Amino acid sequence: MKKIVITIDGWSSCGKSTLAKQMAKELGYIYIDSGAMYRAITLYFLRHHIDWTDKAEVTAALKEITLEFHPNQKSRQSEIFLNEENVEYLIRDLVIAEKVSEVAAIKDVRTFAVSAQQKMGKKKGIVMDGRDIGTTVFPDAALKIFMTADIAVRVERRFKEMYEKNPNVTIEEVKNNLEMRDYIDSNREVSPLRKAADAIIIDNTNISMEQQLNYALDLLKKIKQG
Ligand code: C5P
Repeated sequence: MKKIVITIDGWSSCGKSTLAKQMAKELGYIYIDSGAMYRAITLYFLRHHIDWTDKAEVTAALKEITLEFHPNQKSRQSEIFLNEENVEYLIRDLVIAEKVSEVAAIKDVRTFAVSAQQKMGKKKGIVMDGRDIGTTVFPDAALKIFMTADIAVRVERRFKEMYEKNPNVTIEEVKNNLEMRDYIDSNREVSPLRKAADAIIIDNTNISMEQQLNYALDLLKKIKQG
């Protein structure tokens, strides 16, 4: 069957990556976590004390960054490598989450990431999740999904995930972080978080993971028939 590009955008922690991984597995597609790229760039900037309000510093720093995804043989999930170092675990830290939306709002950072993402989509057969994938990265994608869920449910999910790694994290910290990122992501000048006009909304507040997958696969079937 002809392979397509599937985009999944939406608010922070509303299950985009879960659905993207489910679909990729079901279809034999490659899953690409575009948020991991912005997180890895943020990690690099923090480690190297880059002043990201300074355009020249950002330009020079981006020249030193290589991002690649490699499959983990055990989990069979792809993981992000920053200059050949696996940073998949490190980039999930709250320290990164606190700064990533600021970094992701920088025009040159977005140009860098979007161009790498578009290259990854050349051969089709990918599911990519993020904030601007259906609007900017792949405006011609055959299937675009926009995900949402109630804020209380999103906070609860992200809190559980973060608590496993760091039992000192509080629910308030997680809630504040999600709200701050959603605000910055949807109000920035370059490629703000928006539902593409032709994206289909999935609200997964009250549906199971299985139901969300079946719903998305039905959408895909309809597109392929049409
Ligand atoms: O998806 P995730 O929550 O890991 O993304 C982290 C951050 O990266 C988002 O809050 C957003 O600031 C940025 N991002 C973006 N565009 C994307 C994906 C992520 O601006 N396509």
